[in-house]
Amino acid sequence: MSPSYLNFLPFLLRFFPVCIYIFTFSLFSEPNFRIVIDPGHGGVAKDPKAQHGDKYDSVTQTYLETYKQGTENGSITERKVVLDLAKEVHKVLKLTETDVGWKEFESYLKLFSKKNEFTRVKLISHLTRESSFDDDAPSDDPNAPYRLYDFPDPKSGIRKKGRLSKINELKPHLVLSLHLNPASKGQKGGMAAVLTPGYKTFSNLKKISDKQKSPNGFLKGPWSDWLIFHSGWSKLENATADTWIYLHGYWSKKNGKETDLSKFEGYRQNMISWKYADDPNWEKNIGKKGPYAKTHEEFLESGRFWEREMGKKEEWRREGGKEGFGGDNHYVTRELMRFVQYGLPIQLKEKDSPYPELGPIQKPYISTYSLPTYTNALCAFIEIGYVNRSRDIKYLTQNKKETAISLAVGIYSLFVGLDVKKNPNLPYNPKGKKVNWERYETYFEDVL
Ligand SMILES: [Zn+2]
Repeated sequence: MSPSYLNFLPFLLRFFPVCIYIFTFSLFSEPNFRIVIDPGHGGVAKDPKAQHGDKYDSVTQTYLETYKQGTENGSITERKVVLDLAKEVHKVLKLTETDVGWKEFESYLKLFSKKNEFTRVKLISHLTRESSFDDDAPSDDPNAPYRLYDFPDPKSGIRKKGRLSKINELKPHLVLSLHLNPASKGQKGGMAAVLTPGYKTFSNLKKISDKQKSPNGFLKGPWSDWLIFHSGWSKLENATADTWIYLHGYWSKKNGKETDLSKFEGYRQNMISWKYADDPNWEKNIGKKGPYAKTHEEFLESGRFWEREMGKKEEWRREGGKEGFGGDNHYVTRELMRFVQYGLPIQLKEKDSPYPELGPIQKPYISTYSLPTYTNALCAFIEIGYVNRSRDIKYLTQNKKETAISLAVGIYSLFVGLDVKKNPNLPYNPKGKKVNWERYETYFEDVL
């Protein structure tokens, strides 16, 4: 040992306890992941729209749409079923925050895996709402806690944050949004993913609508099964209308070429509070060549939001990936559905309950949805059941706890990975693969 090193020794010994402390702290503090659970809807579709609606447009100073109340069947309402389930998932995730809770959480992981030891993580969960409009006392503005977009306080005029802004404020890694759908005649029920493609697909559709490209590639591809929201229009015509809503905010006419100036959905990137909104006074550029043009020809993708849309991370989130299309959003959504499809029968078998026959995983709903576009997180947007199918409602209410455990174990698996016991008797087995979170770097923090 050299004399110079010996001189340094007292210094090292003095700081040794500090080094030990830092080392053990980094070794024994579990990684934290942030999850927001969003039970869909909660508000009331009340008139007048100008007073009670959602999608507040600061330019025309009015609400662009009636509040979307969600689906219902008799006394069963989507808002109540998904709220109760969301609360239960929240409760199970919260177990990971304490040592006692973790023991219980581990017992759930053991139902799905042959392993006996599991990496400890903390899954920090938040709910976007804990009530619905019908739980609250009469209010002047009953939709205030439930709107998606920012809106002015009716008395003070001060801008208040809607749900999308509140979600982004929490900087989640994952958003779990729970919804129900009505089943059409003959449909078996079950569950389905809700997806929005990335810029690549919309840019392709833009070229198709401008007749710069043949529609054949799109029609043969996985996004072709677009949601028909305008009956009488083809899937491609609906996809084109959605593309222009996504781009300049206006619907296109049936021919895809012209803008329908009577149907406006807003400059949505500026209707929430986040770093991807345009600079103040952006309204001055409305109607000019650029991102607020009113014709297809004059529209240009410029500004922070469009830079984000065209970036690599948005592509990972919404295009390609483990499911073949829909990116990590599709993977997290489908994986959580597989966990429910797998987790319900194995848990109910253990309790000698009748084996629940679940409806299948249906094909995804594809459109330009607000949640996957304007939140800065991976989005598991699930139609978790069909409101008018009794077996769906049965497992979502009577087996709410088992459904919630399945979703919570699935969320754990998305962050850590899970060696799931193979069960060839079940129609769906989860893959148990974690998401490649590392490649997103500071994406989730970088939102305000
Ligand atoms: Zn819904």
